[in-house]
Amino acid sequence: MIADLQLQEEPALEMERPSIEVDIACAGFGPAMGGFLTTLTRAWSENPGDPSFESRAVPGMPLQVFCYERSDNLSAGVSGVVTRARGIRASFPNLNPAEIPMTAEIHDERVLYLLDPIGASRRSVALRLGDRVLRAAGSLLGVRDDALELPWTPAFLHKRPGLVLSIGQFNEWVGARIMESGLVQIWPGTPVSAPIFSGKAVEGLRQADQGVKPTGEPDSGFMPGMDVRARLTVVGDGPVGAVSRAIDERVGMPEGHERREWALGMKFVIEVPEDSPLKPGTVWHTFGFPEPEIFGFLYVHPERLVSVGIFVPSWMGDPQRTGYRYLQHFIQHPALWPYLKDGTLRSWGAKSLEESGKRGEPFLSGDGYARIGESSGSTNMLTGSGVDEAWTTGVQLGEAVLELLRAGKPFTKENLAATYETQRLASWVERGEQQAANARNGFHGGLLRGLAGMALAGLSGGKLSLGAHIPPAHRQIRRGSDSGLKERGALLAIETGRPLHDAMLSARGWPEIAFDGRLLVTHQDALLMGGKVQAMPGFADHVVFLDKELCIVCVEKTCIAMCSGQALTQSADGVPAFEREKCVHCGACLWNCAQSGDGEHGNIEFRAGAGGLHSAEN
Ligand SMILES: Cc1cc2nc3c(=O)[nH]c(=O)nc-3n(C[C@H](O)[C@H](O)[C@H](O)COP(=O)(O)OP(=O)(O)OC[C@H]3O[C@@H](n4cnc5c(N)ncnc54)[C@H](O)[C@@H]3O)c2cc1C
Ligand code: SF4
Ligand code: SF4
Repeated sequence: MIADLQLQEEPALEMERPSIEVDIACAGFGPAMGGFLTTLTRAWSENPGDPSFESRAVPGMPLQVFCYERSDNLSAGVSGVVTRARGIRASFPNLNPAEIPMTAEIHDERVLYLLDPIGASRRSVALRLGDRVLRAAGSLLGVRDDALELPWTPAFLHKRPGLVLSIGQFNEWVGARIMESGLVQIWPGTPVSAPIFSGKAVEGLRQADQGVKPTGEPDSGFMPGMDVRARLTVVGDGPVGAVSRAIDERVGMPEGHERREWALGMKFVIEVPEDSPLKPGTVWHTFGFPEPEIFGFLYVHPERLVSVGIFVPSWMGDPQRTGYRYLQHFIQHPALWPYLKDGTLRSWGAKSLEESGKRGEPFLSGDGYARIGESSGSTNMLTGSGVDEAWTTGVQLGEAVLELLRAGKPFTKENLAATYETQRLASWVERGEQQAANARNGFHGGLLRGLAGMALAGLSGGKLSLGAHIPPAHRQIRRGSDSGLKERGALLAIETGRPLHDAMLSARGWPEIAFDGRLLVTHQDALLMGGKVQAMPGFADHVVFLDKELCIVCVEKTCIAMCSGQALTQSADGVPAFEREKCVHCGACLWNCAQSGDGEHGNIEFRAGAGGLHSAEN
């Protein structure tokens, strides 16, 4: 009977699997893991004879450290990035930005409020009135090109002295240095399906099965994923990582902590003409357009490359939310377009941000494992900064691991709490998290309330904030709004054979995009630019609809509208069709589902998957 129960709970455990033993197994290679592995390898390189670095898994050998990354190369990450680089510079005190392609020192920061020159965005009455005043006062207030540059920006928003980076180039640069050391093996194209649990302890990582059907059932060439057993498992799998979520499910979250705030970040990398006046290190933050809820950015890299992007948040109640078409309208705003219009789209990308910060912080460590980076709640939503915080939590864990190795102590919850957690809780990352914890409280009541709440929290160092009850992400989507519009959009979609979300924006009055095949290209063409989306055959579908009946009755179909790769499309039976080959692994479908079976989570399970977008410039 007991054996039967175990079999039901974890059937895969009964399968014969290849297995290896290592000392440290790591899930995901982003900035957080870069910080961790840099700290570890640097200490080893300085003193390779140190007996603390002797492997227990393979006696006589140095520590066996294996890191598994889902995407096909280390430069496939997606981010902005503008960063104060406080933690990164502490790790590389002599950092020469010119060593990392696409890196520039920040020299000019601006915040722009963008008016709506089209009249299609959903602005509140108060915002429309405010816009009218701005237009009337015009040049007196400094309104130019339908934009108002804020005369003063609070210190908490400033990133100087800092860097504009490409996360892809940065990850590649860091990865190469780590691998040069010879201590760590990094395996791209290797998704980790789950942690190996023993009760609430973690004993390693299980790689995803290969040679399986989309449903996960064995097919010809079946290769069960390998079990990688380790003394310490380091989890740095980012905002939507399957390993992180499995641990949350197994051990629960600290009381009062939940992950309910999200955003999709989508960006273009554009090569601008030689005579462009944009100087490397220029940083613009925007708000107000294409919708009031959508914040945007323009960062200038060397060699005439510009990153320009938007964030579509979960608190945008509209079920017709989308990324790609809005980004096309964003770059055509009169304040940006003169700088971009003669440019060429080099690449694009999209990824979710876990925006709950401190409120979404899980247990940071447990027996045999530790959590770092965005999935450990490190992203600071007051300053809009995630890379440096993720990096620094990795460094802090690296230092803790060195301390425990040198003391010959095991990686128990108690020892990790006394080292890693103590150091993290006493650091600038935690102070920032505390200040940012309630900084976004007002946004669920609209943009103006949100900005007021953010200013209150920012200027008071987090001491003051607005109160808020943040509903689960699926309840932030307004149901059944504007059904007439939905019908018009659906008709337009049928008539023109275009995706529903695209038709909805047209039905709402947004002008059609004048494709030029160079900068303004169709969503499908974008999938082939700057690298391409790839999906190795033989892996199971990583997007799974939990309760198909819920999908059938679902009117909003927000998962389809928000899908960054058009990998989710309408199907005749009402359950969205999923094409793995078009999925960019942005994770937006996970939190953009309008229905819920359990009242808290959406109706989609987002598992570990291989492939995704290939671009070294994001
Ligand atoms: C468009 C955009 C703009 C942004 N702009 C900025 C900015 O200007 N400044 C800033 O500081 N931050 C910015 N951020 C946020 C920043 O990118 C993140 O906070 C940061 O990347 C988090 O680092 P991380 O290492 O925790 O996670 P990630 O960078 O997400 O890395 C996690 C890695 O784990 C891998 N992974 C996930 N699951 C698995 C699995 N099951 N098996 C194996 N590997 C797995 C992923 O492929 C990924 O490579 C932006 C984000 C986006 C999307
Ligand atoms: S996944 Fe969610 S949003 Fe998508 S169709 Fe199903 S219930 Fe609706
Ligand atoms: S299906 Fe893929 S591309 Fe579409 S929203 Fe989900 S993760 Fe993003």
